[in-house]
Amino acid sequence: MSFCSRNPATGEVLAEYDTWDPVRIEQALATATETQPAWAARPFAERRALLARAAAVLRERREHYARLVTSEMGKLYREALGEVDKCALACDYYAEHGERFMADEAIESDAGKSFVAYQPLGVVLAVMPWNFPLWQVIRFAAPALMAGNVGLLKHASNVPQCALALEEVFREAGFPAGCFQTLMISASQVEGVLRDPRVAAATLTGSEPAGRSVAAVAGSEIKKTVLELGGSDAFVVLEDADLHWAVEQAVTSRFLNAGQSCIAAKRFIVVDAVAEAFVAAFRRGVEALRPGDPLDEATTLAPLARRDLRDELHEQVTESIAAGAVAVTGCGPLAGEGSFYQPSILDHVAPGMPAYGEELFGPVAIVMRARDEEDAVRLANDSRFGLGGSVWTRDAARGERVARRLECGCAFVNGLVKSDPRLPFGGVKASGYGRELSRHGMHEFVNAKTIWIR
Ligand code: NAP
Repeated sequence: MSFCSRNPATGEVLAEYDTWDPVRIEQALATATETQPAWAARPFAERRALLARAAAVLRERREHYARLVTSEMGKLYREALGEVDKCALACDYYAEHGERFMADEAIESDAGKSFVAYQPLGVVLAVMPWNFPLWQVIRFAAPALMAGNVGLLKHASNVPQCALALEEVFREAGFPAGCFQTLMISASQVEGVLRDPRVAAATLTGSEPAGRSVAAVAGSEIKKTVLELGGSDAFVVLEDADLHWAVEQAVTSRFLNAGQSCIAAKRFIVVDAVAEAFVAAFRRGVEALRPGDPLDEATTLAPLARRDLRDELHEQVTESIAAGAVAVTGCGPLAGEGSFYQPSILDHVAPGMPAYGEELFGPVAIVMRARDEEDAVRLANDSRFGLGGSVWTRDAARGERVARRLECGCAFVNGLVKSDPRLPFGGVKASGYGRELSRHGMHEFVNAKTIWIR
């Protein structure tokens, strides 16, 4: 068994790595366990300086890491540059605010003195996906390390070079070797690591089946988990929306990263009064996208990260069309070496179709029509997922009212759903539980410990 790094735009094999054997895994576990208490005992000022240094390493090698991301998972080079920048920003954010988030919190009680002390849990295993191969990892690692934990990364099998690059970032920044280690292990080796008594907790970003499996193992060991799983975000367009703005943002939200984002708008729920106008303008925007070499500035649509993912997506699309969905544009793979898929819109999507109930992880937008605001909210909430959602209306108070009613972890009004180190990020329902980013993200892997003194 080995890991293969393959360029999704060309099919070229870039590198291959052997999977670790139990001896190598044991070394990593021992190193992490030995490092963690000493790491947690270091003053915040030292941890802060190292995290700020990690941000600097990312910025110094910005182009190098962005090129690596583009060649290994296929995203547009300018999007990859943005991803590296965001990673640096998150490191800076926790370097600046981490100590304050971890500060003791005094609480009035019957004690002479009582307070909450936040203490790290220990060794945390992170199982991560390929779609934002640097960002998904950094948003776990920056707060977890700043809190005094150490991290073990099991990255997705198709991004081994990014996995090793992340380890390099922390090493070059000066972190002790055991603070952040990349494990070259397969999904089937995760259970053994997670059951190891030296591992305290786990976080998984990825699909629902992977989440269920890791959470079940962790549950049987009574270990804390955070799950960031799939999403099928609603993009609710009301009749008083600024249609020009909404359509522009709809194209960006759905087709960024070739549609392979958990918080991409996936279900466009448009009230009847503006549905025809929205679909016509959306179609023009989608048909203007240009698939091609992700390193080329002129390209606006990247390939999918893997061929098997493209096949899976196409199956969902063809089954939905067979069940009555209307192909407005695209809806098929593009010929050639890379794993490109046409930018696509499926209209009149209805219950029972894969496009209605499942996540479509690629450049395919789903349109559903709603009678009115009430019907739009009903459709938006008729989903197993609950990650993000957005509402488009010129009436901010109305937007806020609808946003409050959406069953999801974050709802945006007149803006596309995005992650930001300052704001908590995570889902409800089958999208998972727990939060990343902000103060909330930092508190996931700490013991909120009550201290009571007479
Ligand atoms: P995936 O197949 O679930 O893989 C994610 C990670 O889990 C990989 O490292 C994978 O390893 C590992 N894995 C898979 N099955 C496992 C198992 N049974 N036990 C332990 N580990 C297992 O997901 P993906 O296709 O890479 O990513 C796409 C999914 O992630 C989408 O559903 C997307 O919405 C979701 N996602 C969610 C968020 C969020 O923040 N909520 C962010 C990004 C992506 P291998 O690669 O070796 O199989």
